[in-house]
Amino acid sequence: MRDTEDRTDVDAGCGDGLWKATAAAAGTEAAAERGAATRGLATLAVRAGLDRSPHGETAEALFLNSGYVYDDAARAEARFRGEEPGFVYSRYGNPTVRTFEARLAALEGAEACRATASGMSAVWNALICQLRAGDHIVAAEALFGSCQYILAELLPRFGITTSFVRGADLDAWAAAVRPETKLFFLETPSNPQLELIDLAAVAEIAHAHGATLVVDNVFATPILQKPMALGADVVVYSATKHIDGQGRVLGGAILASEAFCDGALRDFLRHTGPTLSAFNAWVLLKGLETLPLRVREQTRSATTLARRFEGHPALNRLVYPGLASHPGHDLARRQMAGGGTLLAFDFKGGKEAAFRFLNRLEIADISNNLGDAKTLATHPATTTHQRLPAEVRAAVGIGDGLVRVSIGLEDVEDLAADLAAALDAA
Ligand SMILES: *Cc1c(COP(=O)(O)O)cnc(C)c1O
Repeated sequence: MRDTEDRTDVDAGCGDGLWKATAAAAGTEAAAERGAATRGLATLAVRAGLDRSPHGETAEALFLNSGYVYDDAARAEARFRGEEPGFVYSRYGNPTVRTFEARLAALEGAEACRATASGMSAVWNALICQLRAGDHIVAAEALFGSCQYILAELLPRFGITTSFVRGADLDAWAAAVRPETKLFFLETPSNPQLELIDLAAVAEIAHAHGATLVVDNVFATPILQKPMALGADVVVYSATKHIDGQGRVLGGAILASEAFCDGALRDFLRHTGPTLSAFNAWVLLKGLETLPLRVREQTRSATTLARRFEGHPALNRLVYPGLASHPGHDLARRQMAGGGTLLAFDFKGGKEAAFRFLNRLEIADISNNLGDAKTLATHPATTTHQRLPAEVRAAVGIGDGLVRVSIGLEDVEDLAADLAAALDAA
């Protein structure tokens, strides 16, 4: 990691909030070692995986077909045997979906990618394809609500148990390991408290025990963080968030080695059918083209707004990994290329103040989605994390005064005026 070079770029309080990409650079190096393309992220986002048909269309073609035909019976046999390349059925693979997978793999610096119908189907399949009854998981306690449901409620029905640890406490990860521990699971920054977890350190603990590290990288995106370059084995995305980024479709992706994608995962996806539709893959490909531009611009705006409103009298705390006051700021500077597109406001006045703030917003919408071109604000305790018991919410830091804001692409001064008026009303 090029830490010293990184440090000279931006100090807290100045600069535009985008740091020289230590993690992103590491990802490119890893790709170069494998002989993969070493082009920049913006080039890959527009070009990688492009596989034009004989018509020579400029944009990616949309292959809206479920099946394929063969010139003769022997070819059908060869395709099914895997002796001849080519598609056999869109549940197994589709040219538009494959282009999306190839482009996202290039952006991530991963050997392989498999697309899924939603982020949750990516999480579920990435986990279940490598687990069996009796296995044990160690997971960070601060997780997206549906991930928490899978680990805490669904998997135990099948004899798979999870120990939840405070993600930032490295000793807790090591202490939770058992002989039957198969995998570690985490997200960083976490939803919605934006806590940071040391990816390289947790990967080392996982590997010392022969466990696999699976990282939900939704909040950072491949533009700001490359978990595999820091030791993660599998990265999952909800493509619904920044990858689409324009509120249109659901999608998900699993990124890992060829060995993982063609091994444990392959038959699982083929035979259980969490397939991404070709139409959604095509929409997501168009999303990928502008992903670096959008994420960088949204990060700049988030940084400006975080600096502007830190210390506002209505707040206990403004949480943003790009601020020096964030407990994980140094770690963010090591493993991310910017503080991200999300902020959290912790209101002194609890739920009432949080609701006054939300109801006063004129530009930003009240919505539980994130990573969108539109600025969206949500109250996790009463929406996305409502199903957690109050004690669990309190333990993981989702207070009644917490509001998560996903910064969009509007003019930053318009957003500043909107947030200022709403903060004053709170
Ligand atoms: C949204 C989200 C998911 C689930 O993705 P869907 O596309 O809604 O299924 C998983 N993890 C995180 C961190 C998310 O924000």
